[in-house]
Amino acid sequence: MEKIWDTVIVGAGTAGLSAAVYAARAGLSTCVIEKEFAGGQILNSPEVENYPALKTVSGFEFVTQLNEQAAAFGTEIEYGTITACDLSDEIKTLTVNDNILKTKTVILAPGAAHRKLNVPGEEIFAGRGVSYCATCDGNFFRGQDVCVVGGGETAFEDALYLAGICNKVYLIHRRDSFRAAASAVERLKAQGNVEFVTPAVPVEISGDGKVERIVVSIGEEERIIPICAVFVAVGMQPENGMFELWAELDKGGYFASSEDCTTKTAGVFVAGDARTKPLRQLVTAASDGAVAATAAIHYLHG
Ligand code: NAP
Repeated sequence: MEKIWDTVIVGAGTAGLSAAVYAARAGLSTCVIEKEFAGGQILNSPEVENYPALKTVSGFEFVTQLNEQAAAFGTEIEYGTITACDLSDEIKTLTVNDNILKTKTVILAPGAAHRKLNVPGEEIFAGRGVSYCATCDGNFFRGQDVCVVGGGETAFEDALYLAGICNKVYLIHRRDSFRAAASAVERLKAQGNVEFVTPAVPVEISGDGKVERIVVSIGEEERIIPICAVFVAVGMQPENGMFELWAELDKGGYFASSEDCTTKTAGVFVAGDARTKPLRQLVTAASDGAVAATAAIHYLHG
C-alpha cells in the first residue's frame, strides 16, 4: 500500500530537524525533505557559543548531533528539490525527484538566506571574518575594529551590540538615510566608538589569509578601511513563494504566522527563519520546530 506519512517537514535546518525530533519522538512517521545538506545555515558557523547549555560547539557538530537525534527517533530524510505540491486536502502531496510524498501534515521550515553583498572577498572570507550574524560571531572580534554594512534595524542592532564589545565599529551604508528607526540611529550616533561611513558602497573585502580591510566607494573616491571583520546586515531573502497558496506571506515574503506556527490551511504549519519573527537564531528556530511539531501532533491526535 502507498505510504502516507504523518508529517513531512520541508527543510533540514535547525527548525526542521527540531520539529523532526519532536514529531518522531511522539511516534509520528516523519520525513524531512532537504534540497542540499542537512544542517542549514548554521553549518557555516565555526563556533556557536550562545545556545543555552552548550558552552561552545561548532555549527557542524551541532547539526550532526541534531541530525543523529532525529534519525534515532526514526526520522527519514529525502534529498531533492520540491518541484510541485498540493497542500489543500486532508492528504497533502509533495513531489521530490519525481517521487510523490503523501502526508497528513506538513511543516514548512525552508529557512531564509542572508542577502549577500556580492563583492570580491565576501565568499572566500565567509566564516573567517565575513559574518552574517553579529550576535553569533561578534565575540570573536572583541576589542578589535570591525564594520557593519546595512542601514536597516538589523544593521543598527548589530552595530550597537558590537560597539559594546569591539574597539571601533564602522557603520557602512549606501545612502545617507536609514530604514532603521530614528531612535536607533540616535542611539548609535551617541556611542563614542562608532563612525558612520555614508553614502558608501562596498567594493572589495581583502586581506592576507584573514580579513584586513574593506574598500568602499564614496562618490568618485575610494576609501580603504582597516578592519578585522565585516558584518553583513543587508536583509534576508526567504523563498516561500511556492507555498503562498496555503501559508500567507507578509510583505517581506516571510510566512505570516504567529507564535503558534499555524497557517490558514489545516494541517500545514511553519517554523524557523522563514516565519516572520523578531529574532532569527538557533534557539528560536529550535523553539519553532518544537511548537510546530506539537501543533501537528495535536492536529492528528486531537
Ligand atoms: P532591511 O530592513 O531590508 O534593510 C536592509 C538594509 O540593507 C537596507 O538599509 C538596504 O539599503 C541595505 N541593502 C540591501 N541590499 C544591499 C546591498 N546589496 N548592498 C548594500 N546595502 C544593501 O533588513 P533588516 O535590517 O534585516 O530588517 C528586516 C526586517 O526585520 C525589517 O522589517 C526590520 O524592521 C525587521 N527587524 C526588526 C527588528 C526590531 O524590531 N527589533 C530588528 C531587526 C529587524 P536601502 O535602505 O538603501 O535599501
